[in-house]
Amino acid sequence: DGTNNIQLSSAAIAANAAKKTSCLEEIERLKQNREERRKKMDDLRKQKTEREQYNEAQGIKVDVDFQVMVEQNMRNVPQMSPHIPADQLKICVCVKKRPIFNSELSAGDIDCVSASNPNIIVHECKYKVDGITKFIDNSDFEFDNTFSHDESNQDLYFYSIRPILDLVFNCGIVTVFAYGQTGSGKTYTMQGLQELAIKDLFDRGVNYFQEHNRNFTVTVSMYEIYGGKVYDLINNHEQLKVQEDKNQKIQIHGLKEQFVQSEEEILNLIAFGNSVRTTHATKANDTSSRSHAVCQIKVHEEGIKQAGRLLLVDLAGSERAQDCQSNNKDRQQEGAEINKSLLALKECVRALDAQKANTTNQHVPFRGSKLTMVLRDSFIQSDKNKIFMLACICPGSSSADHTLNTLRYAERLKERSGNQNQNI
Ligand code: ADP
Ligand code: MG
Repeated sequence: DGTNNIQLSSAAIAANAAKKTSCLEEIERLKQNREERRKKMDDLRKQKTEREQYNEAQGIKVDVDFQVMVEQNMRNVPQMSPHIPADQLKICVCVKKRPIFNSELSAGDIDCVSASNPNIIVHECKYKVDGITKFIDNSDFEFDNTFSHDESNQDLYFYSIRPILDLVFNCGIVTVFAYGQTGSGKTYTMQGLQELAIKDLFDRGVNYFQEHNRNFTVTVSMYEIYGGKVYDLINNHEQLKVQEDKNQKIQIHGLKEQFVQSEEEILNLIAFGNSVRTTHATKANDTSSRSHAVCQIKVHEEGIKQAGRLLLVDLAGSERAQDCQSNNKDRQQEGAEINKSLLALKECVRALDAQKANTTNQHVPFRGSKLTMVLRDSFIQSDKNKIFMLACICPGSSSADHTLNTLRYAERLKERSGNQNQNI
């Protein structure tokens, strides 16, 4: 009996001791947590003070709370992975974030986009329903490639057009689209890619055709699509007629195809075409953001009827699609037309993406807009054809809505395995 009692009480003592230790451990843990929290708050305060001093010295008026919160969220972004060259994909959907300008920073804008290939995260600055409490709403997207603000047109070229340029020497069609709001860097990026592609086209073309003992010629045409009408950019801004012929081929009647013999000649011609676009834009009060501009470079091999093509399409400002709700009748109509063409483009790319390899019976809804109609051949399924979609985005917090719209559009161009947002 007595021994039992002793045993019991020693068990009780042990249990008691264990309780005490766990209690002490708990207190220690709470203390540590408190200290960590305090340290975090101190760091935050310190970061905020530093930011405030810097902003004041630079004359920047910005919401420091949001600025510091965004910076903290940016620290949790996953590490960047290597880019995928476009030749490994049938349709390549990429995003380019342009750098934030000093003028934007001075005006109080915050860089709220993290581009860490293949992810892109928008750190949106928001208020809770109380209207006082600030918080950051993170939206995470994944694409084939994302290019950060510190990656150049050269970097982009290396993974986009360069790996697929040879298709153009082989009767293939390479089509590059730049999508995004006005000011997001579509023209800057497309012109950069254009210059690099043209240089490469001549350098590599000469070698390629010499090896095959063939001659080749290059022609260029440029046109813009505005309000559902097509205008020649290198021939007096002439309006052009688009028709489907007996063989169901789309013809742009009267489109000027200019022979070019050198890199220099082609660049001059393109600069001329671009200047026509902007001149006409200023006359009719900046239509350049409301038109789609297409630059088509054809490579003709001697003795072969079909030509290889490189098409660079600088799309209308995506925010213009919302003008269809405008009070101004003209704007409304233009907006409706842009909306229609951007939706049709999305549907065509999606249809092409959904097609199984080696199917000939394809249904791509290219008749949905003038844009997709004139680009019909780009949507023909073939190993030799590639679509490269580049979504351009602004980094500023004041553009976050447009940025999210652009990313959502780009996200829906392609089904991806493990698609996060299938219910949208
Ligand atoms: P969009 O054609 O989409 O309206 P732009 O290409 O005209 O936009 O770009 C808007 C402004 O931003 C231009 O002044 C352009 O020079 C500048 N810009 C765009 N992207 C970059 C970049 N990656 N680096 C430096 N400046 C850029
Ligand atoms: Mg532009």
